[in-house]
Amino acid sequence: MSTSAEKLLIGAHTSAAGGVHNALLEGKEIGATTIQLFTSNQKRWQGKILGREDIDLWEKALQETGLQKIMSHDSYLINLGAPNPEVLEKSHKAFREEAERCVQLGITSLNFHPGAALQDDPQDCLDCICESLLEVEDVVAGSPTCLLLEATAGQGSTVGHSFEQLAYIIGKVKHKIPIGVCIDTCHIFAAGYDIRDKKAWDKTLDEFDRVVGSEYLQAFHVNDSLKGLGSRIDRHQPLGEGLIGMDCFKVLMQNPRTREIPKYLETPGGPKAWVGEIQMLREFANHKR
Ligand SMILES: [Zn+2]
Ligand SMILES: [Zn+2]
Repeated sequence: MSTSAEKLLIGAHTSAAGGVHNALLEGKEIGATTIQLFTSNQKRWQGKILGREDIDLWEKALQETGLQKIMSHDSYLINLGAPNPEVLEKSHKAFREEAERCVQLGITSLNFHPGAALQDDPQDCLDCICESLLEVEDVVAGSPTCLLLEATAGQGSTVGHSFEQLAYIIGKVKHKIPIGVCIDTCHIFAAGYDIRDKKAWDKTLDEFDRVVGSEYLQAFHVNDSLKGLGSRIDRHQPLGEGLIGMDCFKVLMQNPRTREIPKYLETPGGPKAWVGEIQMLREFANHKR
């Protein structure tokens, strides 16, 4: 028996302004059954420290809203593969704090950008990321929080744009820490993986399964793309208004291989637009559209 469309975990990246619990409340308001949030200011190195009151409000809101499988997105400043030792050290500290906040809040997954090689060799960057991840083993091993590598568009020198790179990192750390992948539909399309219809989706999922293993696919960022297949440019569009097109999202909700996996919108319309997009995704899941 597959889950009814109403219960499928679909949400968006909501705002934690004024306290992390507010992201849950906003999620409920827009019809979400899960959400993604920043647990601290995503543009500052100085991380937020959660107090007892923050955690109490969070737990109360979690109960009231019934949202599940909450995902945290790490700060944009963190580069776990940074060639510069100072930036790497700051990244380690900030990432550890990200992981600690997730464990405190009982968050299911910490989605993070793998890293950027800058002027360095991408292979060195990948190895550096693996070492960086193992530094938080004491925080996440045996915790409720799984670290999720975000598949990237491959813009600039960012790594994590090929399934081979994701598989390489997973292979080096999986015995020590809980690890998985979040596929961003805009990113993998820009990275060159076609997902515009059922046939293309199945081919891409087959490749993911062969290279990485489908058991590692834990979440989706659901976004259309302003730029074309293989453009390696990361620009999100509202669903159906980009170069991926609506069929992709219909298949995403109907294909038994992807239907039950939690999904988080990061489309540019904000909460007003997400109400309609979440509703539409549920209608796709119900085969009503
Ligand atoms: Zn991201
Ligand atoms: Zn993006």
